[in-house]
Amino acid sequence: MSRADEPAASGVRTPSPPRLGVGGRKRRMFVLFFSILVMYLFLAQLSWINAPASDQLTYLWLPTALVVGILARVSRVYQVPVLAAAVLGEVLTDALVLDISNWGLLFFVAANTCEQLIAAEIIRRYRASSMQRVRDVATLFLAGLIAATIGASVGAAATFLFSNSSVSVSWQSWFLGSLLGILVLTPLVLTAQLKSELRFRVVIEATSLGISMVFLSMLALLTTVPGAPALLALLLPILVWLGYRFGVAGIAIVAPSIAYITITAAAQGLGVFDGQPLGGAAMVYLQLWLMLLSLVAYAAAAMETDRHATSRLVRQARADLEYQATHDHVTGLYNRFAIHERMAAALTPGLMKGSGGGTLLAVDLDGFVSVNDTAGHALGDALLATTAERISIIAPAHAEIARLGGDEFWLFIPEVLSTTDMLSLARQLRRAIQQPMSSEAREFILGACIGGATLTGDERVLRSTRSRPVRVTAADVRADELKRRADLALTNAREQGANSLQVYSEALESDSRAAMQLRSELITAIENECLEVWGQNLIQASDHRIVGCELLARIYDQDGHPLPTDQVIPLAESTGLIIPLGLKLRQAGLRIGQASLPAPVQMSFNISGRELAEISFTTSLLHTLEAADIDLDRVILEVTETAVLTQPKQTQRGLRQLRRAGVKIALDDFGTGFSSLSLLREFPCDIVKIDHSFVRDVPTSAAASDLLQAIIDMSHAIDAICVAEGIETDDQADAITAMGCDWLQGFGLHRPEPLQNIVVPT
Ligand code: C2E
Ligand code: CA
Ligand code: CA
Repeated sequence: MSRADEPAASGVRTPSPPRLGVGGRKRRMFVLFFSILVMYLFLAQLSWINAPASDQLTYLWLPTALVVGILARVSRVYQVPVLAAAVLGEVLTDALVLDISNWGLLFFVAANTCEQLIAAEIIRRYRASSMQRVRDVATLFLAGLIAATIGASVGAAATFLFSNSSVSVSWQSWFLGSLLGILVLTPLVLTAQLKSELRFRVVIEATSLGISMVFLSMLALLTTVPGAPALLALLLPILVWLGYRFGVAGIAIVAPSIAYITITAAAQGLGVFDGQPLGGAAMVYLQLWLMLLSLVAYAAAAMETDRHATSRLVRQARADLEYQATHDHVTGLYNRFAIHERMAAALTPGLMKGSGGGTLLAVDLDGFVSVNDTAGHALGDALLATTAERISIIAPAHAEIARLGGDEFWLFIPEVLSTTDMLSLARQLRRAIQQPMSSEAREFILGACIGGATLTGDERVLRSTRSRPVRVTAADVRADELKRRADLALTNAREQGANSLQVYSEALESDSRAAMQLRSELITAIENECLEVWGQNLIQASDHRIVGCELLARIYDQDGHPLPTDQVIPLAESTGLIIPLGLKLRQAGLRIGQASLPAPVQMSFNISGRELAEISFTTSLLHTLEAADIDLDRVILEVTETAVLTQPKQTQRGLRQLRRAGVKIALDDFGTGFSSLSLLREFPCDIVKIDHSFVRDVPTSAAASDLLQAIIDMSHAIDAICVAEGIETDDQADAITAMGCDWLQGFGLHRPEPLQNIVVPT
């Protein structure tokens, strides 16, 4: 079963990051200042160990690298204490260790501060501080290059001015020392504590590898064991592999150590260098080699991280796409295509007996459209999601559920349920859906019509001859057949009214065949004009004078037999054929009626909801009436409450316009629809036609009489003429006349007959 996989994001508040109070910030600045000062002095000491005796400069300057990394990571306010610590650290180092004059010291501090600020700023600007992409490695290199160039220039100027060492040598040595420092140490500061997916096992693995790398380099560089220098050749591939395996953080731990050991050994003439400290060109080559080593390793690591991130994104995007293609985004249920796939798979008959069968329940919500229209789509979506959840809870564990868009849901069970089980499941679903739902302090109650059908594994389904754009398998055909059956059942349930259940059967199939037959007969009748207008008189109750005539359609088949009006009219409505039919009938009715019905006898026309819904209805009707040259106050339009209520406001406006022009509006079949009192208030009508079901039991049933009396009184309260229809006996006519009903109609008074045959005595 498919459920919403992702929790709704709405209503989830993200906590704002905790803020440090001013006191907390001060303390942090203080801690930062001192720890950086201590580290600066310590790293400066470490660096001085590899300074050549001749020169006042080191081959690897670590403090700058540290400060660059920290400046690039901390927020702006914390840059102040960091810089302050760096300046103080530099002053102390220069004064204590180097014994540089005041001016020289100033230049040295300026050179280092420029270097640190520039490199850190470049890294920040280009968002390279996480060192996750190849771009970040390039940025780091560029930042180091620019910063070291500027730093070296200022620094070399100072050495030239205040000591008498060679400018070119000190420039070169400052430049290479700073750049190498930034390349090997800064990434460690940048990536330290980076939120990575480093798991415990990985940490152990990386650390032990790191230690063995350092050990290996110490062995290679600091001992004079024969063959040890050959181990140096292993450093690059192992470092690259380390980066590939553990990312930038993996190399960042090892690279500074190797660089440091190498430089120190070379500068001091330790191990392989065997008492011969390197200097000049040899040292430059070594520095360049170390730079290359670290750059290659970092680039490899970043490439791998990049690739990982990309493939993760691609995987995620692919999964998202697939989800969207198969699910409905409002409810998280399957969509139409996805459930078809699942149905087809389940309905493929297999070797096992009884396999390949299934049950489908088609659920159609009642009342959803009006909620959606009046309360808005966001709320409509929320109601759909709640409904989906309720269906999911009731559905058997192995059921597949889909929303087809709109307010229709499908529940497929890969098993043939008995009619009893299917109905009981349908009832449970209906009960769950009917539970009130509340949203935004409002309560909603929806209903549901449900149609159910089964297809057994051994039923043979014939392929329809209609061609389809895609290749259709036997399983597709079976799935389509099950859907067709459930749809047919649902259509039938809907016809029975709200909250109906219907299970598919052969009888349903023949009913629908009969409906199709009727439909084609109706089409032929309209085409061949096999139509007649009949009329049934309306009389005044007090003196039985004919006051009006209701025009009724009569439609005939090819052999001249009348088609049942109470079936044909709803069919014409549901197919839209009522539009041409209604127009023809009105035109004919007006033509005949003008001749046979003398003024002021009223002509009453039945108008269906479908006709009212036509935007052009009002103008088209006025046009027809004008063409027939009839006084508008002789015209009555009979509309049902449901037809008026379910129309958009613009239709009601049209009816009001007609009313102002003199046309009377009658509420037909009153009492069978909503019987809404607020409708009577908001939508003024001239005539209330009480449905014949209220007349049937009068005068024998006291309850029926009371009810009828109440409706008559209510009609008079709104100044409407009250008509009772379906009067078949004299007793009914007398009783209803005594109740004060204004007009009467029914077989007992006048039967419907062809309009041209009606004679009105004058
Ligand atoms: P309706 O508007 O309620 O029309 C009255 C129906 O009750 C007519 O059936 C009429 O023959 C029948 N009737 C009249 N007196 C009695 C009686 O004493 N007892 C009983 N049992 N029935 C009586 P009909 O002509 O079969 O029409 C059925 C329905 O079809 C009508 O119900 C009306 O809604 C619709 N209809 C008929 N003609 C038209 C038309 O031209 N346009 C539209 N839109 N609907 C029409
Ligand atoms: Ca009527
Ligand atoms: Ca009626």
